[in-house]
Amino acid sequence: MPEGHTVHRLAAVFARGFGGQRVRTSSPQGRFSDAARLDGQVLLGAEAVGKHLFLPFAPSAEVDPADPSVRHVHVHLGLYGSWTFAGDPGFAGAHAIGAPRLRVGEREEESEGTVDWRRIVPRETVRLRIAGPRGLADLTGPTACEVLDAEGRQRVLDRLGPDPLRPDPDGSARRRFVEGIRRSRTTIGALLMDQKVVAGIGNIYRAELLFRARLDPFVPGRDLTAGMCEEMWEDLVALMAYGARTGRIVTTQPEHRQIEARIVERSRGTRQNGDEDPDVVPREESFYVYHRQTLPCRLCGTTVRSGEIAARTVFWCPRCQRVRSRRAGWTREHPAAPWALAV
Ligand SMILES: [Zn+2]
Repeated sequence: MPEGHTVHRLAAVFARGFGGQRVRTSSPQGRFSDAARLDGQVLLGAEAVGKHLFLPFAPSAEVDPADPSVRHVHVHLGLYGSWTFAGDPGFAGAHAIGAPRLRVGEREEESEGTVDWRRIVPRETVRLRIAGPRGLADLTGPTACEVLDAEGRQRVLDRLGPDPLRPDPDGSARRRFVEGIRRSRTTIGALLMDQKVVAGIGNIYRAELLFRARLDPFVPGRDLTAGMCEEMWEDLVALMAYGARTGRIVTTQPEHRQIEARIVERSRGTRQNGDEDPDVVPREESFYVYHRQTLPCRLCGTTVRSGEIAARTVFWCPRCQRVRSRRAGWTREHPAAPWALAV
């Protein structure tokens, strides 16, 4: 599932590629009939909150996105959703964002240059096509694609916890995160997946964040100190900012990416957007524990384990992740983690 950093990248791509432009909208698949209502309107920009993308439409570019008359297309990609882009040279700066398995396809090759994007016929699975003066975006396989008014948008936002990728000048987002964890008996492994506690984390960030904090995934939130939660928030902000910048989740320090691990892990790596790029940290070196069950921990050699929390598989090192509370020896002076992210 695309995690929050992907959705923030999408919002940037939409703002750059379509912001302030009059666009055509359609639903080649026919399952998004509201597309006809928006056809010919101006796409004012784009907004990402957690894993939710909002695309505000108005009759003219002068309308404020906060105006009650604005209609918002609300998209949640879920497990299988993906956006594919094609356009003039330099348009959007990405061919596809979303579930990486959907990347490979006819569209991607066509958009490389020779075929005029205006003549690309949408696949019949395209739920929503947005076409502007310089390019187009096709949405396939989303969990949610709907038109909301301002109140509807607010109802979605009200269900979401703080988003580590949104500016937090007064620290209130961090406070909400800390409080959300510390008032709960639920395990930290489940709380991190709860979008009301923190918006935008998926299974990869959950597993990796807990490893970097040396936290046992099964410890109840209320056993954690405020300091532990604050450090975790700061680490998450750094990790997700890196993800939003590069499009990839990388949580390992360079010195922990053993060369020999490549042989063992080649077939197990998790696919991400950009895997084919030779300049990125390869997927088999990007994580400490995610999908590394049965492999040796990069730090201590203990076999990484997997189990289930909040209906999703969690991965952890039973030796490194023994921190359960302040009594277990965690102090601010000698934090188990996080390290500053250097990738
Ligand atoms: Zn370990």
